[in-house]
Amino acid sequence: MKDMKKGILGVLMAGILMFILAACGSDDNAADDTKKDDDNGDEPLHVVTSFTIISDMAEQIGGDIVEVHNLVPTGTDPHEYEPLPDDIKKATDADVLFYNGLNLEGGKNGWFFKMVDSVGQDEDRVFSLTEQVEPMYIGGEEGTDEEINPHSFIDPDVGIMMAEDMRDALIEVDPDNEDHYKESAGEYINRLEEIVDEYEEKINEIPEEKRILVTSERAFQYMADRFGLEEGYIWEIDTEENGSPEQIKTLVNYLTDHDVPMLFVESNVDERPMETVSNESGIPIFEKPIYSDEIGEKGSEVDTYVKYLNYNIDVISEGLNQ
Ligand SMILES: [Zn+2]
Repeated sequence: MKDMKKGILGVLMAGILMFILAACGSDDNAADDTKKDDDNGDEPLHVVTSFTIISDMAEQIGGDIVEVHNLVPTGTDPHEYEPLPDDIKKATDADVLFYNGLNLEGGKNGWFFKMVDSVGQDEDRVFSLTEQVEPMYIGGEEGTDEEINPHSFIDPDVGIMMAEDMRDALIEVDPDNEDHYKESAGEYINRLEEIVDEYEEKINEIPEEKRILVTSERAFQYMADRFGLEEGYIWEIDTEENGSPEQIKTLVNYLTDHDVPMLFVESNVDERPMETVSNESGIPIFEKPIYSDEIGEKGSEVDTYVKYLNYNIDVISEGLNQ
């Protein structure tokens, strides 16, 4: 009986002591929020992404435990970019940086790596998302140098590889949250797998002779190759001359030999060269833009990568079934 009383008293005393300690502790934490976040591990992971598609993917897979700063905004060319002071600051402080690779950001001598080098970022925190992608090439004709086509992300199958690589990279830099990244990436990849099936179905519904996708830039090469579309284009890549009379003539000649029902113009290019092609060939331009190098502004119709993929296949299917 006596021992039991002593025991209860002990528990009470310990409880009061813990209460006092906890109270002191919370005061300390309130006085120093940064330290509290670090201690508890609830400071978001700081992610920097090179362009809008990767930025959205990081938001989807990272969810609310990451904070994403995107570099090249919608309406700006990811092939050539001048980082702003805020970009430099965010890149300096980043826990992890994602870029497309395949020379989208200009390769090892391009703007992205210049920035990464200039801020002294640790190479182990910088991840390309196209390590699994078999590169496809453009150029090599008429004395032009062959170069890698960077636009593999237009193919939803590549989107799956990118999501897998991003998941693995996030787990590598933030292993405490492995379960979170695995779960959200798993759901995201399931969605992309459904989209691959939709691409297959909708492209197979287009009459075979009309499976020709004509755009300004030759950005759709990977997707076209994957799903059995033929490509037509005015110029091969945005960094070269865009819409010279020679380029326009070549495409108009191509169109006279092919049964193409519709031309498409990307959201981020000058539409005038394709308008000339349309006037000279008599083939109409689809009423809505197609998306290649970017997703739309937040709140717009095409503001996520999943919406971008769905939107593009709807536009292609509607345009080529006419
Ligand atoms: Zn491009």
